[in-house]
Amino acid sequence: MKPNALSEPYSDKKEPLSKFKSLKLKTYFRLENNPLVELISSHSHSTDFTHKRSDYIRRRLWIMCLFFAFSVPLFGFFDFLTLPQAHAQTLLVARISLSVALFIMAYRVKRSSSVSLIKHVIALSFLCPSLFYLYIMLTFNSLDSVPLIFTMMPYLTLAMIGLFPLTIRGGVILISLIFIPFMLVQVHFFNGDYWHLFNGVWLFGLFAGISLWLQIAQLSMLMNLYRESTVDPLTKLINRRVMLRRIEQLKQQNIGFSVVMFDLDRFKRINDTYGHLAGDNVLKVASHIIKSKLTRNDIVARYGGEEFVAILPNTQTKQAIRCAEQIALALKAEPIKMSDENSITITSSIGVTQYQRGEAIEMMFKRVDDLLYDAKELGRDRVVSDIR
Ligand code: GH3
Ligand code: MG
Ligand code: MG
Repeated sequence: MKPNALSEPYSDKKEPLSKFKSLKLKTYFRLENNPLVELISSHSHSTDFTHKRSDYIRRRLWIMCLFFAFSVPLFGFFDFLTLPQAHAQTLLVARISLSVALFIMAYRVKRSSSVSLIKHVIALSFLCPSLFYLYIMLTFNSLDSVPLIFTMMPYLTLAMIGLFPLTIRGGVILISLIFIPFMLVQVHFFNGDYWHLFNGVWLFGLFAGISLWLQIAQLSMLMNLYRESTVDPLTKLINRRVMLRRIEQLKQQNIGFSVVMFDLDRFKRINDTYGHLAGDNVLKVASHIIKSKLTRNDIVARYGGEEFVAILPNTQTKQAIRCAEQIALALKAEPIKMSDENSITITSSIGVTQYQRGEAIEMMFKRVDDLLYDAKELGRDRVVSDIR
């Protein structure tokens, strides 16, 4: 184990990491974003939140597909009671086709948690009933002879959108998938009665607005709950739980990484001398400095009281050491105001190691924790790694 001098500038990290931009490892839930932007599209959502939301959608989507896969052919019974035999038989074929499509979707969603698969299936699960509606409506000669259940289908489908915590963009796409067949039917049966057409479109707009509202409310609630359970309110960094989830994802994607563990030196003294509020401010400044020195692909978490951990994907120990050294220098260089007269600077002890493929995460944390302990033992204010 080798203590490293803090003087060498950390310069070669940005270059190798830029090669991996395509990985899109968005780490932070960027709280500074305008909340409206986060509701409009999923572009600014973190990878972790995207997975969480997708899993939430997946569980509801699976049940929805299965429910309708069973109920759509069963309701064919009423067709035979109310429509001519031949017509009811034609509709039954369409019902069975829709049911099979829904079964396949339910099966796929149940089997896989891929974010892109869920996105495609949710679009298909709204497109198929809309095409089913279009087909069924075109089998009737006039709107007057269509049973109410079929006339109401677009509105019922719209209502289902409210089940999912979708972004506004997602909701608008689904609404369009329902609106286009709906309008085709309106045009097909148009008899010059503009008032009737207006009423239909107005009612559709009303249902669409309510569904959009419901889904946005769900998304907003999910975001709030997610933030409360994953983001440290003081430093706005993610907590240990999310960091471990992100590490699991890196492992699954076979992406190597280094880990840097920081512990602020003699932090208790700051609390004792200047009070807890001043201590809190130091933690805020320290977390801000650490974050500012990392790239967007890196993951940084508040690990414990005055301990922070940075995970650097696609980074070798040597590069991670330089990164740690640069952060240590930046921490030391920043005077933090304690009162009108007093400013202090802080130092940190840092352990650095690299994840060894196949090893348990606990082993890696034990190793980096030991290295941090060595840094403390050797006199604090230094970076210690396990390479020579
Ligand atoms: P060392 O150099 O050995 O790390 O010494 P230290 O004083 O930094 O370490 P120690 O573990 O003895 O003390 C850590 C202190 O951090 C104790 C605790 O009161 C304080 N602390 C933990 N969380 C917070 C927090 O959220 N706010 C404030 N103000 N203090 C905190
Ligand atoms: Mg500590
Ligand atoms: Mg400490």
